[in-house]
Amino acid sequence: MSFNSLGLADAILKAVSTQGYSTPTPIQKKVIPVILEGKDVLASAQTGTGKTAGFTLPILQILTSGQQLRNRPIRSLILTPTRELAAQIFENVKDYSKFLDIKPAVIFGGVNQNPQVQTLRSGVDILIATPGRLLDLQNQGLLSLAKVEILVLDEADRMLDMGFLRDIKKILNILPIKRQNLLFSATFSKEIKQLAQGILNHPITVEATPGNTTAEMVNHKIYRVDKGKKTELIIKLIMDGNWQQVLVFTRTKHGANKLCEKMQKKGLTAAAIHGNKTQGARTKALAGFKDAAIRVLVATDIAARGLDIPLLPHVVNFELPNISEDYIHRIGRTGRAGSSGDAISLVSHDEEEYVKGIEKLLGHRLTSEVIPGFEQSVMSRQELEAVIQANKQQQRPPSGNRDKTKRPSNRNNNRGRN
Ligand code: AMP
Repeated sequence: MSFNSLGLADAILKAVSTQGYSTPTPIQKKVIPVILEGKDVLASAQTGTGKTAGFTLPILQILTSGQQLRNRPIRSLILTPTRELAAQIFENVKDYSKFLDIKPAVIFGGVNQNPQVQTLRSGVDILIATPGRLLDLQNQGLLSLAKVEILVLDEADRMLDMGFLRDIKKILNILPIKRQNLLFSATFSKEIKQLAQGILNHPITVEATPGNTTAEMVNHKIYRVDKGKKTELIIKLIMDGNWQQVLVFTRTKHGANKLCEKMQKKGLTAAAIHGNKTQGARTKALAGFKDAAIRVLVATDIAARGLDIPLLPHVVNFELPNISEDYIHRIGRTGRAGSSGDAISLVSHDEEEYVKGIEKLLGHRLTSEVIPGFEQSVMSRQELEAVIQANKQQQRPPSGNRDKTKRPSNRNNNRGRN
């Protein structure tokens, strides 16, 4: 099947072929015709499936096939949880609309609002935004959403994790009632289903992968190792395997910095990307990683969300996430759009229960390998229990700040940053 049979205009097809895409990805095949019919969509698709083109191409088609309005009111609003994702979607929309008379723009927090306001003043057809900055500018009367025809909520699960539910509700209240709604989410939790029910009108459900399974092309592998030997092992894996582009996940910002420094000391070019880094530092790190000037990008879950790094061969979990679904998000960055990839996890004694959770979610066991010299030491049942308990204590947020969604990390401290 080619893009030609999807009913897209020549100018869109030309942009697609300029990108080098020959066939639509599974999510694109399913979702493009449904969006073109004007239906609401509930799509399960993680980063790497080609979901951005999946919603952008039909939106471009819809916006350019009807009568275009003078002075370009915002006709499509794409909401995303992070500024990185917003910036990436903006780049994609620009690429796909290259041969059309369409003006996209992006707004997000953490940077001066004036250039964004200037752009909005001159008229914008498609606005990509993070919720906080959108509401800010709306409250200042600097933008109008009265003409929005198509709303996209991208990575809706992460928006909820980051505490954006109230902002989303406020935004929904200022949008016209009659509109088309597209909700994309990597996972379908109870909360997502509730949100979908409140927003979508007789939606068509589209799945890129059945349920919560991961990309089939990913080889999952775990190395059981003592906590204290993880750094040495990861450096060995990267060097011996001659891995040139590795994305490494740590659970904390501090852990990301520490690991990065240790790698640099061993001569690996590495950069850390997390919520405490400035927008400039994050953009620079990501650009360096993409240009191969940086070999290892060490990231926390939230910072890595939505990064568009095509054909990433290796993703390493230096620490496993304590929420199984985050494993899916993390490894969504490898084995993308048709290429294969390795998802490697370093597992210490205290992380065994996370392995169980991930295996349950994936529906299969993770293959375990051992590197000589890095065998996990034997622990008695009591010692193991003590480590697990200590770990649980560490994970627990201070009382009074208990997170009802069980996602303590970054939830509040990232909110204002986007
Ligand atoms: P996304 O899931 O939207 O983040 O897209 C993941 C990557 O796949 C991006 O780098 C896109 O440029 C790429 N991509 C999107 N659609 C296709 C396609 N039909 N064929 C090949 N690559 C694609």
